[in-house]
Amino acid sequence: MRFLLALFLLLQTHIAALAFTTVVLDAGHGGHDRGGIPGQRISEKTLALDMTLRVNAILKAHGMRTVLTRKSDVFVSLPERVAIANRQRNAVFVSIHFNSARREGACGVETYYHSRKSARLAHKIHARMVRASRSEDRRVRQRGFYVLRKTRIPAVLLECGFLTNRQEAARFMQPAHRQRMAEAIAAGILAAR
Ligand code: ZN
Repeated sequence: MRFLLALFLLLQTHIAALAFTTVVLDAGHGGHDRGGIPGQRISEKTLALDMTLRVNAILKAHGMRTVLTRKSDVFVSLPERVAIANRQRNAVFVSIHFNSARREGACGVETYYHSRKSARLAHKIHARMVRASRSEDRRVRQRGFYVLRKTRIPAVLLECGFLTNRQEAARFMQPAHRQRMAEAIAAGILAAR
């Protein structure tokens, strides 16, 4: 019985395509909120915005309508981000972040979602990010982060990699790697339709 339920949920996650024409792209942090942990050399907010702008360009080239919660280094509160998302119709919400840890060895890609209707989007993006990352698969996880709980549209939060890991951070310093990851995220979003 448990197996059948698991199978049903898996099929539901992978088959039921989402109908959307707009993607709300949410670059994590910004302004006085640098993200990451104190003393981190590469600031999360800068890379998150860079990735977001890359994903935005790719999605627009594919005819998608996009809305960005921030386009520059400014602070936007979490309720404001949610309000922007909830104003959109036929839309999904993708929040872009980078991870950090006190343990230098931690590396890899994590994808979060909260409501079941967001599971497909999470899995589609995550699989492609892991392939492009050449790093560890830290799995898709269900968690009640504020922006995931409060958005009414399907919503995911991506942790593209660890900036506290020397090798992973060095890869993300290369524009070609950021572009590869951005292509993977955009492809995942488009595949969820
Ligand atoms: Zn973050």
